[in-house]
Amino acid sequence: MVDNQNTVCFRTMHLNETVRHSLAAYRSLGGYQQWERILTERLEPEGIIEELKLSVLRGRGGAGFPTGLKWSFMPRKAPGQKYIVCNSDEGEPGTCKDRDILRYNPHQLIEGMAIAGYCIGATVGYNYIRGEFYEPIAHFEAAIQEAYAAGFIGKNILGSGIDFDLYVHRGAGAYVCGEETALLESIEGKKGQPRYKPPFPAQSGLFGRPTTINNTETLASVPVILERGGQWFLDQGRPNNGGLKLFSVTGHVNQPGNFEVPLGTPFRELLALAGGVKDGRQLKAVIPGGSSVPVLPGEIMLQLDMDYDSLAKAGTMLGSGAVIVIAEGTCMVKVLANLAHFYAHESCGQCTPCREGTGWLARVLHRILHGHGQMSDLALLDSVAGRIGGRTICALGDAAAMPVQSFLKHYRHEFEHLIKHGRPLDAAA
Ligand code: NAD
Ligand code: SF4
Repeated sequence: MVDNQNTVCFRTMHLNETVRHSLAAYRSLGGYQQWERILTERLEPEGIIEELKLSVLRGRGGAGFPTGLKWSFMPRKAPGQKYIVCNSDEGEPGTCKDRDILRYNPHQLIEGMAIAGYCIGATVGYNYIRGEFYEPIAHFEAAIQEAYAAGFIGKNILGSGIDFDLYVHRGAGAYVCGEETALLESIEGKKGQPRYKPPFPAQSGLFGRPTTINNTETLASVPVILERGGQWFLDQGRPNNGGLKLFSVTGHVNQPGNFEVPLGTPFRELLALAGGVKDGRQLKAVIPGGSSVPVLPGEIMLQLDMDYDSLAKAGTMLGSGAVIVIAEGTCMVKVLANLAHFYAHESCGQCTPCREGTGWLARVLHRILHGHGQMSDLALLDSVAGRIGGRTICALGDAAAMPVQSFLKHYRHEFEHLIKHGRPLDAAA
């Protein structure tokens, strides 16, 4: 659950656990009012999209692409079926926020999806949910039934002549299916492998039709933005980094969990919300945006603010907002070997650099970790990672390469020590 109880964007999070996912709870806090207003006043989609552009709501799944701009790519008035797809296949190591939106605030996501469908001309929506999310799926499916029964989705919604049908598609455990085009293949019943882009889904997406894919947190933020205004949302964060954001803080902290804070909040404050570094240990390193982004040493992170632009300037990324905290006493070779194993396991195998390179990285790191490495392995790691990045169909290849290069940049001495002495430099825990 979200641990700072005064969440602003996710209305029902602070209510009693047994009721907060219900329609009654959501309605009691103004839920579905924006959807009703849009339908009764017949608000123009263009105006809603302009409000989103003003808010600078950037994609919360990891890429940070501006949501209003993405919606504006859709050929809304063109004839034929269009789709809105929600990406709830939250699989990025360290990320655990979207499951809580599904679990505790599912109606806000349904309202956001219905509004998105209206704005882009889609009468059908799919939510692709990670298959392991048993309780979140149950809550979301129950919420869909409630929304149909109350007439907020379905045919001729509230007598407006607008239709919107919503379906759940369960993932089957492949990390790569969180990549938007692999996700579309999976919904279509095919093997979940990424497609080449372009064409982007806005031109040719689900079943070859124009499709917008947004992350769960992104879509669930829409009703609040329309209620309070795009300018209000922008003002919560920083220029070009609008709004509040859920951060999943995990690793060596005293109180891991999800925290909603304004973009631009100093990392130091976010760390304090999570109870500080575990057991009073020193902060060693932070992976600030999920395992796919470059690691930074703790002393650098303590000077940074948590927004897209500040982290990009410092050579890393905000990603999905999964903040992995690493304390002194952790062997960084072991951390990287663990990550490399993950990417090698999850590569779909379509592109040679990713299929061969991720396995190669994992094997070299395994032998270094187990005391069989050579100094030349460090150049080899660098070279293999450099030959994956930017040469693959999807971002998984880059995600595998980036951590290797950043770990070698900041912690090369730990790799050298392990190779020389056969034991880690720093491994108290
Ligand atoms: P991307 O930058 O390729 O695209 C971002 C979005 O913008 C996509 O929806 C894309 O279709 C759209 N877009 C971009 N350029 C466009 C154009 N010219 N025309 C039309 N649409 C355009 O990034 P991506 O590959 O979708 O996502 C990568 C990110 O996903 C990584 O940064 C990583 O952090 C994140 N990720 C998140 C999770 C998770 O569990 N949340 C898991 C894995 C990776
Ligand atoms: Fe598959 Fe890796 Fe290529 Fe992505 S980069 S399409 S995961 S082989």
